[in-house]
Amino acid sequence: MVETDVAIVGAGLAGSLAATMLGRRGVSVALIDPFEHARPDFRCEKIEDRHADSLAKAGVLDEILPAARRYENVWVARLGRLAEIKPIVEYGIAYGDFVNGIRRLIPSEVVFVHNKVASLSLTPERQTLTLLSGDQISARLIIGATGLGAGFLDRIDMHRREISKCHSLSIGFDADSENLPFDSLTYFGEDPSHRVAYITLFPLASGLRVNIFTYHDLDDPWVRRLRISPMEAIAEALPRLERLTGRLRVRGAVKIRPVDLIATENAAQPGIALVGDAFSTACPVSGTGASKALLDTERLCNVHVPNWLSTPGMDADKIAAFYRDPLKTACDAHSLKTSLFAKRSTLGQTALWSAFRWGCYAGSLGRNLVEHRRFPRMPANSALQSEMPANH
Ligand SMILES: Cc1cc2nc3c(=O)[nH]c(=O)nc-3n(C[C@H](O)[C@H](O)[C@H](O)COP(=O)(O)OP(=O)(O)OC[C@H]3O[C@@H](n4cnc5c(N)ncnc54)[C@H](O)[C@@H]3O)c2cc1C
Repeated sequence: MVETDVAIVGAGLAGSLAATMLGRRGVSVALIDPFEHARPDFRCEKIEDRHADSLAKAGVLDEILPAARRYENVWVARLGRLAEIKPIVEYGIAYGDFVNGIRRLIPSEVVFVHNKVASLSLTPERQTLTLLSGDQISARLIIGATGLGAGFLDRIDMHRREISKCHSLSIGFDADSENLPFDSLTYFGEDPSHRVAYITLFPLASGLRVNIFTYHDLDDPWVRRLRISPMEAIAEALPRLERLTGRLRVRGAVKIRPVDLIATENAAQPGIALVGDAFSTACPVSGTGASKALLDTERLCNVHVPNWLSTPGMDADKIAAFYRDPLKTACDAHSLKTSLFAKRSTLGQTALWSAFRWGCYAGSLGRNLVEHRRFPRMPANSALQSEMPANH
């Protein structure tokens, strides 16, 4: 039996970061995941402010950014019009590259076990993990970072509660385009009947990436049309998008991902702390799932685990301190609230919701006026000219 202080189950975003942070602190760590390298997956593909903040506090930001594509000045268009150019810096990075980038930072002292955890047995002192191979690992603390693969939690009396099934549907593909006048565009849905929250275009190392976040069911006729003819279906749902983007051509496979909102109940058990999607999922529309996973891990490994390991035992009271962490609870609450509100504000058909959406548009225009931002030069003869606010 392998003996260690901390066993991390799952080497995705949260688990790999936890292994890097604790390994660098000299903690004895075993990391368990069936895959030697993270496979390509359609998940978070941007490093935004909140992600960067946690990565910086975890001490890895400068080592991760070189693998990402930097872009600035995000164009925001609402209701078919360009409304704002946000002077922000973000980074595009494919999810597999993001996770593998963090995995490369894991110190060699961390034992990486390529297997799957089948079951756990918990006590206030030591925990036993049984792998599919039948091998066992003994640890003082387990960090559960299994993302959506959290089935085994049921067997330790934790319950995965479904808050909203198929809450949203995300669609992503690589694309080719003619000279876009922006680095990145966020274009909000034009009409609630189209059920589109927004589409975002931004650069990845492989080229232009297009992600659309919608509230369709998987068997919706529009989704069937999208599978056959993606750009036609997108033009149907966002008729005025082409004014800003010109003609886009799909390159490669169109990935379609339904997302359920799920939270784990009865999580405060002896010897195990859950982070990221294993604790609760977020809607991709909110852009908060990865920031939650990173903040969970940063707080756990910078604050709580060092405290826990410095005294004997690992009872449920110790673990509960992590779930009460004010930064974690605020981040979780923000994520859930944004996930639920975004759907209501996109689909709301009443005059009040319509006023809310126009208010957002006016707010975006107002920010531009107040802060005197300059728009980049438009290409000559571009249909984009007609989208410019009058003062520019
Ligand atoms: C389409 C889409 C778009 C998104 N966009 C954004 C965004 O823009 N911004 C944002 O902040 N968030 C976004 N998210 C959410 C974000 O990607 C996730 O919240 C985040 O990746 C979760 O990371 P994690 O470490 O918890 O899980 P994962 O990265 O999924 O890691 C789980 C790991 O556990 C391993 N595992 C599973 N079961 C076992 C087992 N039994 N034993 C051992 N290992 C196991 C798996 O192999 C995997 O490596 C998006 C999600 C989706 C689906």
